[in-house]
Amino acid sequence: MRTVVAKFGGTSLADAQQIRKTGKIILSDPDRRYIVVSAPGKRSSKDSKVTDLLLRCYEAAVKGTDYEQDLQLVQERFREMAEELELDLKISEEIEPLRAYLAETAGAGKDRKCDPYWMETRKAYIVSRGEYLNARLMAAYLDYTFVDPEWCVCFEENGKLNLPMTLRTLGASLRPLKNAVIAGFYGADMKGTIHTFSRGGSDVTGSLAAAAVRADLYENWTDVSGLLAADPRIVDSPKSVRYVSYRELRTLSYMGASVLHTDAVLPVSDLDIPINIRNTDRPEDAGTMIVRKLPSGETKYPIIAVAGRIGMSVIQVEKVMVSDESGFTAVMLDILKNRQLPFEQCLTGIDTVTLVIRSDLLATCKEDLFEEIRSKLDPDFLGLTENLAMIAVIGEKGTESSDANVRVLRSLTEAGILISTINQGAGKLNLLIGVQEEKYEEAVRTIYAAIEEAL
Ligand code: ASP
Repeated sequence: MRTVVAKFGGTSLADAQQIRKTGKIILSDPDRRYIVVSAPGKRSSKDSKVTDLLLRCYEAAVKGTDYEQDLQLVQERFREMAEELELDLKISEEIEPLRAYLAETAGAGKDRKCDPYWMETRKAYIVSRGEYLNARLMAAYLDYTFVDPEWCVCFEENGKLNLPMTLRTLGASLRPLKNAVIAGFYGADMKGTIHTFSRGGSDVTGSLAAAAVRADLYENWTDVSGLLAADPRIVDSPKSVRYVSYRELRTLSYMGASVLHTDAVLPVSDLDIPINIRNTDRPEDAGTMIVRKLPSGETKYPIIAVAGRIGMSVIQVEKVMVSDESGFTAVMLDILKNRQLPFEQCLTGIDTVTLVIRSDLLATCKEDLFEEIRSKLDPDFLGLTENLAMIAVIGEKGTESSDANVRVLRSLTEAGILISTINQGAGKLNLLIGVQEEKYEEAVRTIYAAIEEAL
């Protein structure tokens, strides 16, 4: 028998009907032993996520304004679900500790509200109740054991996850159980204070649970059938990606594909546990498999996707004969480091250094930075190009083949799109191309059309 950890996102658990669907999926495969749940998500585009309602309750409480209306909405959503699913859960009683906590938060002295740690941990407890209540409800519905991450997802007091302790404790809590439902998104420190991951963090809990029980597979059920080969807001009906490597996924996430929390990869990738992104509304779709290596017999498409980001700037520094000296680039990078200014790419050529930096970060220190570069490096030329977009053509195998590169670059040239920068390191994971922001969408469509047949 295999062990599968299955995490269900907010839309998969938004109401009783979705919970029934989810329950059917879980019960259709006995390998799905450990279930991780998010708080109920939106039922329609105008609806609110339970986590957002709870966040509003917290904000109103610290401001001293009314939170009861939003709390009622939360209570009503859980009450309706419990009633429709005919569960013996007294939601009004379950919600009482939260109501008391909010009252205490609202009543606390002004001074405490200025204490960031106090505020953070109050907020964490309040917003974590969406997952807590949903896991209680789901456990009752499936008749599975409820596991509260308060006891087995271990944080430090400073809010950082204690990974080794979590893996040990979570493993010890889950392994003896045949089946269990675990609340996602939160855990607690040694003092019992609740902490949460960042938004979307139930994905991380799922990954931790999969690593803790050494699962064969981590299923992540959501509202899309996996990753797409391009942004569907730009490209019409892009193909979906069947297999993606952990490394390729990192690039996709970095470029804005938000199908999985970025911190959800490491716990499972370290143990080679594949992640399968699946769609609760279309369980018949195979979804995307995120793996280190392809299972034998499967052929891998040479390029898997094209993605990108706007809002980039390029700084160009030139100095004659500088390539014969050592340390020029090091000084440049030191300047950025001392300012804690991260860069996206650093390209060095003969007597030139080119840096790609996010425009919003650069905006805070542009004048100062340029002055420092001039005084420390005395360049012959110092240039800035703004309003650029960076496009990544992703594929560990694809970008190894010069044919793919030729196809991509030729397509842009034929479409009359100017290329500002090109970057492909020896890792050959991506071909990174800089274009004018106004040409970004056209460039993505052009590249997609050029590589589509290889997908
Ligand atoms: N409920 C939390 C959020 O909305 C965590 C999660 O869904 O993963 O961010």
